[in-house]
Amino acid sequence: KKKHKVTIIGSGNWGTTIAKVVAENTQQYPNLFEENVQMWVFEEEVMVPLSSKHYDPDSPLCNKPQKLSKLINELHENVKYLPTIDLPKNVIANPSLQDSVKESTILVFNLPHQFIPKVCQELQGKIVPYARGISCIKGVEVSEKGIKLLADMISERLGIYCGALSGANIATEVALEKYSETTVAYDPPSIDSRQPSPTGSPTGSQVNLASPTPEKKDYEGSHRKQVVLQPLPHDYPALSHENMRKLFHRPYFHARLVDDVAGVSLGGALKNIVALGAGFVDGLGWGDNAKAAIMRVGIQEEVKFGKTFFAESARVSTFTEESCGVADVITSCMGGRNFRCAKMSVERGVSINDVERTELNGQKLQGTSTAYEVNAFLKGQGMEKEFPLFTAIYNILEGTYEPADLPDLLVADQ
Ligand code: NAD
Ligand code: 13P
Repeated sequence: KKKHKVTIIGSGNWGTTIAKVVAENTQQYPNLFEENVQMWVFEEEVMVPLSSKHYDPDSPLCNKPQKLSKLINELHENVKYLPTIDLPKNVIANPSLQDSVKESTILVFNLPHQFIPKVCQELQGKIVPYARGISCIKGVEVSEKGIKLLADMISERLGIYCGALSGANIATEVALEKYSETTVAYDPPSIDSRQPSPTGSPTGSQVNLASPTPEKKDYEGSHRKQVVLQPLPHDYPALSHENMRKLFHRPYFHARLVDDVAGVSLGGALKNIVALGAGFVDGLGWGDNAKAAIMRVGIQEEVKFGKTFFAESARVSTFTEESCGVADVITSCMGGRNFRCAKMSVERGVSINDVERTELNGQKLQGTSTAYEVNAFLKGQGMEKEFPLFTAIYNILEGTYEPADLPDLLVADQ
């Protein structure tokens, strides 16, 4: 039997963490997966920081900037995006996107969502046609045609099936092997794994922006009919839920497999807007009750968004019962980067973009762009008022309102 070769596309804070998780599992299941895990690195020159456990003033590696991929392969540490964490030696950093995906049957997309269109463009025609994807990216794609899940976008652009992984997963905690849960949505048509999909139910949908009444199409209509899936060759192990779980589950990282790609993707994207709201009220010093109020409305709007625009696919229980829903709202509103940067922006009286530039050392916020993208979509639907929190966060980012206006803006929630 052949083994699955895995490539992680992205090597930021979460990309590197997932590479670590997956590389531990490819060691554990040598019959299923090739041991070495490729990790595509967007190349840049960096200095080894003093905080790195490999910092040595006498080492030639440490006295001038070095290519990040070289540092990862020599030190087995991503000194810029995941400093101080030891990476398994079978994580192989590769600065060539095309080389990193060669012959890979499992592509794990894990980079800030704004870079996905370009990466997909570069990957077209460079991957095996029977590759399968998992998107760990938290965001959505909005265009004049409507709103699209990133898993669907990847699927359409590359002609492959793509599922999603999302959960209450602050990367550094996972990298430190502190217990957490995650949700993996994997629902390929039966052609994929030679096993029936768990429920056979649709998993996503697309909404037409131009239409005042959303024209709903189910996932199979918008995705599977356009993408002619290539069956996985018979000499590869089936990519069943069980084997997908083996790729992601660790004793400290509990993966629950579901088939709701839309719910998992929307939970991950929308909670970043909610976390900005929690950061704004915390920055005002308003305390835990205020933050809890933002979380409550946020979960409510997530559910409503799923029910309104992804009715055929997203399940309410995914938002209310899975890690990718309520749990991710909670953790992100307590310690995520969107929360922390929004809080600092209020405390310092500067824009959140300035805080992102000065405090995140190249890491990227997803909540700000998602707030704009979701607002553009809601405006197109004439439904801004139906989602007062999402709309308020957009207006605060725009400078139309202040964080202190949030209680008034949320009265519309009555
Ligand atoms: P990050 O915020 O650390 O982003 C930096 C990454 O972007 C680096 O790998 C950098 O090389 C890359 N980059 C910069 N410019 C680029 C370009 N022009 N083209 C391609 N890549 C470029 O990234 P991350 O934390 O790994 O986030 C990836 C996704 O994972 C996001 O959608 C995020 O919401 C999600 N996520 C993050 C966390 C977390 O705690 N960090 C947890 C769960 C999910
Ligand atoms: P931030 O991007 O706000 O850090 O959120 C991380 C995350 O997604 C936790 O689940």
